[in-house]
Amino acid sequence: MSKKIVNTDVIVVGAGNAAMCAALAARERGAEVIVLERAPNSERGGNSSFTAGAMRFAYRDTQDLLKVVADLTQEEINNTDFGSYSEQQFYDDMCRVTQYRTDPDLADLLVSQSLNTMVWMRSKKVRFVPIYGRQAFKIAGKFKFWGGLTLEAVGGGPGLVQALHDAAERENITVLYEAQAQELLHDDNGMRGVRLKLAGKTTEISAKAVVLACGGFEANAEMRTRYLGPGWDLAKVRGTRFNMGDGIRMALHIGAMPYGHWSGCHAVGWDRNAPEFGDLAVGDGFQKHSYPFGIMVNARGERFIDEGADFRNYTYAKYGREILAQPGQFAWQIFDQKVTHLLRDEYRIKQVTKVKADTLEELATKLDDVDPSGFLETVAQYNAAVRTDIPFNPNIKDGRCTSNLKTPKSNWANSIDQAPFEAYAVTCGITFTFGGLRVNTKAEVQDTAGVSISGLYAAGELVGGLFYMNYPGGTGLMAGSVFGRIAGEQAAVFASDDVRALKK
Ligand SMILES: Cc1cc2nc3c(=O)[nH]c(=O)nc-3n(C[C@H](O)[C@H](O)[C@H](O)COP(=O)(O)OP(=O)(O)OC[C@H]3O[C@@H](n4cnc5c(N)ncnc54)[C@H](O)[C@@H]3O)c2cc1C
Repeated sequence: MSKKIVNTDVIVVGAGNAAMCAALAARERGAEVIVLERAPNSERGGNSSFTAGAMRFAYRDTQDLLKVVADLTQEEINNTDFGSYSEQQFYDDMCRVTQYRTDPDLADLLVSQSLNTMVWMRSKKVRFVPIYGRQAFKIAGKFKFWGGLTLEAVGGGPGLVQALHDAAERENITVLYEAQAQELLHDDNGMRGVRLKLAGKTTEISAKAVVLACGGFEANAEMRTRYLGPGWDLAKVRGTRFNMGDGIRMALHIGAMPYGHWSGCHAVGWDRNAPEFGDLAVGDGFQKHSYPFGIMVNARGERFIDEGADFRNYTYAKYGREILAQPGQFAWQIFDQKVTHLLRDEYRIKQVTKVKADTLEELATKLDDVDPSGFLETVAQYNAAVRTDIPFNPNIKDGRCTSNLKTPKSNWANSIDQAPFEAYAVTCGITFTFGGLRVNTKAEVQDTAGVSISGLYAAGELVGGLFYMNYPGGTGLMAGSVFGRIAGEQAAVFASDDVRALKK
């Protein structure tokens, strides 16, 4: 038996980045807001807490960056080439990596609102810094950024979530923990509230508007298998165990329109022995993203993808699927001494599945579950195919490729011949799912007839239509912030209109 406990203007379901941006935006418009977080306080913040906090946004020049970054010193400005990342480049990247399937209206909104949303977040005391370590290389004494991903939140994902929750606390937003939304209360006049389990007890909260920002279905093995296909039940989950598709399920139940790439997801190479779900103490340390500088082999010892097809920002999100498709769902990444200094920090964490050897023959015997002769043959063929006449340059797509291989390598091809050799075992780690609900440019959830469901808004991972096949790194948080802010504003406006209408 359920019991009504409270009324509010806006309920926000979820307490990650999209949800907290929605809550803050609704509060800014004067709405009373209650946030429902399924997780306990110690695990709050969903996938947003697991990120490095990197955010992709359009900026023309350093002046634009200075609107977002408070703490840039003159020395940093002088020693860094931040370049620029135009709205057109961002939009083109969205189109290119999604094979021109991204919803043009949603993508346009994401891109055009990205900078001012970052500025707005800064006004809520979220602090950002340049990503010197991972997105810039030092050339002739000067840092040069590449790939359109320039800033991250101070303290990474946990820092971002903390800053948003601090702002919520300052603005008297109530956050209920262990509060799992289970059903949308809805009738012919629109939303009436949410039925939830609060610390194990079923209850109801009435509200004039509801914002769903409670993630995709990546943590739900049954939904993964149903929508992504056989084998996806075997993937590891990189982030929160709480994104079970609840928001999508609840909205579909009242007639919302499914939209986007339901059989697609973001999935990466992830330590083969990582736990079933993400570990907040390790964060994204289980990822292994330096494969463009080496090769990847499967159980047969064969290469199966072009490791150097593009900058890792544009390939990492689709290569998890390729690894899942290999026999035994694993691969080994192989590097020689010429490139190990280029490996990202995540290769040096304590919980890493790594082997080292002084000869390729010794390495072949150490690669668990790999055919040693297949591996040695692959390396010999690969080494012979490297175009050493083209100079190697990790800062640009250098065109240093292989010739005449069945699986080519298009950039950064280096022979693997300098000991000691290092190898890292990876499997598929799913990040988030692409399919979700259809929203319009006011973040209003659409029904199956294309009409807005009165009082229902959505933001973040559970919005479909932005990402297909692949994803430009740093866009998940940005999309959550842009659509979260819009959803919160619109929900608050709707709630106040509703109040006015009732008073008439
Ligand atoms: C390891 C890792 C690294 C990443 N790195 C980056 C990065 O650097 N940059 C980037 O842009 N993106 C990154 N991403 C992707 C990014 O995390 C997501 O795109 C983004 O955080 C999604 O935000 P969200 O608010 O929609 O969902 P989440 O942050 O996942 O929040 C969903 C919330 O809903 C709650 N919830 C779920 N069900 C219910 C329910 N029934 N009732 C109440 N609450 C519920 C969850 O507990 C959670 O608080 C990364 C993801 C992972 C896993």
